[in-house]
Formats: sequence, structure tokens, C-alpha cells
Amino acid sequence: MLNVIIFGAPGSGKGTQSERIVAKYGINHISTGDVLRAEIKNGTELGKTAKGYIDQGQLIPDTLMIDILASVFDSFKDSKGVIFDGFPRTIAQAEALKEMLATRGQAVSVMLDLDVAEDELMARLIKRGLESGRADDNEETIKKRLFVYHSQTSPLIDWYKKEGVYQHITGLGTMDGIFADICKAIEKE
Ligand code: AMP
Repeated sequence: MLNVIIFGAPGSGKGTQSERIVAKYGINHISTGDVLRAEIKNGTELGKTAKGYIDQGQLIPDTLMIDILASVFDSFKDSKGVIFDGFPRTIAQAEALKEMLATRGQAVSVMLDLDVAEDELMARLIKRGLESGRADDNEETIKKRLFVYHSQTSPLIDWYKKEGVYQHITGLGTMDGIFADICKAIEKE
């Protein structure tokens, strides 16, 4: 299986590039943010819990996220692989993912780090908020999410470097150019 992590700060283009990776490689997509937004839309208990964290720009607790991830992963049958978009976001999640994959005879093939400068991230997220109306794409919450990214999520860069699967991708440029770099990185593995 081709198990790809698409990593990067909020606004780095993970969702957009994931769609292209799914189309090209025929793998399944898990976006934990999309899963949570669907739960909120459906008014479930999980959605209610998640909303409180998302609106504050905070992360949902690890144990909850890890359970959700495993159940989505196990719902894929005869999968050629999975792209993990928005997960892991903490070291505990990365450790849990490693263990979950290992118990299923799997491992992370590659971790793609979409690297975009901070001022560009801010501009993109504000624009997305105006266009899509996503509640957490407002200036105050964006700042909190970027802070959370730097404090809790970016340590995963070194973690995956040690795992030997890290690939840096420059996330500035045309969508096609970035996608071409992503394909090169995936095919190196
Ligand atoms: P995203 O769409 O990936 O930017 O996620 C939106 C929000 O959902 C985040 O700001 C978090 O509040 C929550 N979320 C998504 N994925 C995770 C995760 N792996 N761990 C914790 N919280 C998450």
C-alpha cells in the first residue's frame, strides 16, 4: 500500500493537492478536518464536542482523533493506499499512527511537508474564509491555529526525518508545479 502523509500548516494546500494525489494514484483519502466538519453538519455528539475545539482553533484530544482515524482507515476495503490529510498533528498521533499501521502490516511510505511562508498562509486563509465561509478561517482563529501548528504540529518534521520518510515540498508556485514535485517525491519511495 502507498501510505502518504500530506503535512503542512493550515492554508498550505493539503486539501487541494490531496485531491490530485487521490485522482492520480487511486488511493483513499482521510481528511480528519472533513470528517469533523461532516459530524458537525450532522449534529452528532462527536460534532458537538469537535465544534468547541475547532471554533477556538484548538486541536481535538488525541485519543478521540486516533479512534476516529482507525475506524475510517478500517472502512476502506481492498485499498491501494491512503493519503492522510490533517493527521497526525501531534507526536502522540504520529506514534499511534505508526502502531496502528504496524498492527495491520503497514507503514508510512512518505511524509510530504508542504512548506509555505507565514504571510502567504495568512493571506490564503483569510481569502478562503471570505469565499467559503469556513467559521475557523477568520483572523483571530487563524492566528491561534498557526500558533498551535508551530507549538504542537511542526515538531513532527524532525520526528519523520528520523523515521526516514520525510520529503520537503516548496508549497509556493503553481498548483501544477507543486503537484509535479509531489509526484517526484512519492515515486522516489
Ligand atoms: P483542517 O481542516 O485539517 O484544517 O482541520 C480543522 C480543525 O479540525 C483543526 O483546526 C482542529 O481543530 C481539528 N482537527 C483536524 N484534524 C485534527 C487532528 N488530527 N487532531 C486534532 N484536531 C484536528
